[in-house]
Amino acid sequence: MVLHQLLFATHNAHKVEEIQAGIGDLLRVISLKEAGIEQEIPEPHDSLQENASEKSGTIHRMTGLDCFSEDTGLEVDALGGAPGAYSARYAGEGNSFEKNIDLLLQNMEGEKNRNARFRTVISLILDKKEYFFEGICKGEILKERRGNRGFGYDPVFRPEGSELSFGGMGLEEKNKYSHRKKAVDQMIRFIQSNYK
Ligand code: IMP
Repeated sequence: MVLHQLLFATHNAHKVEEIQAGIGDLLRVISLKEAGIEQEIPEPHDSLQENASEKSGTIHRMTGLDCFSEDTGLEVDALGGAPGAYSARYAGEGNSFEKNIDLLLQNMEGEKNRNARFRTVISLILDKKEYFFEGICKGEILKERRGNRGFGYDPVFRPEGSELSFGGMGLEEKNKYSHRKKAVDQMIRFIQSNYK
């Protein structure tokens, strides 16, 4: 079996763009929007793996198609790993990226240990079997916003090995460090060795 395209169970256009930029011409990523699916997919669990699995499972049941999903969390050492799987709803259900950042900066005020990491878990459903892949990017939480590119917590996260925050980087630069890119690379290697 040769795979040319793969449905990505997300409504986040930033993620689709980021992942397609990382994969290049190897495989075309189809978003839910392109597939005509408007429905919100629940993320009810408190672990990234369960949420990723819920999203790919929901879309697979709806469409019968091979697909993948990912769930990402920001894990901050000084906050005991929070916000983690609650990253999108840190400041409450339906809150904006800005409110989430405001709360994070407030909770980190005066904190010396600013170590944090982004962790991505991908759930891939191929031929009705499920596979998981993980990617981690270590870094630190800045004291204030720097840059306004990207999305989510990007303006206040600086990856190890860079002077810039994610919010100060273009996609190509972010993908040199990105948790999501690392998880996607593993998925692509798996697909290439098993399905090409
Ligand atoms: P999701 O549930 O995987 O969509 O991600 C949870 C939340 O984590 C998002 O709403 C963003 O706030 C944040 N997030 C995920 N990935 C990134 C990233 O690459 N940069 C910054 N924030 C991110």
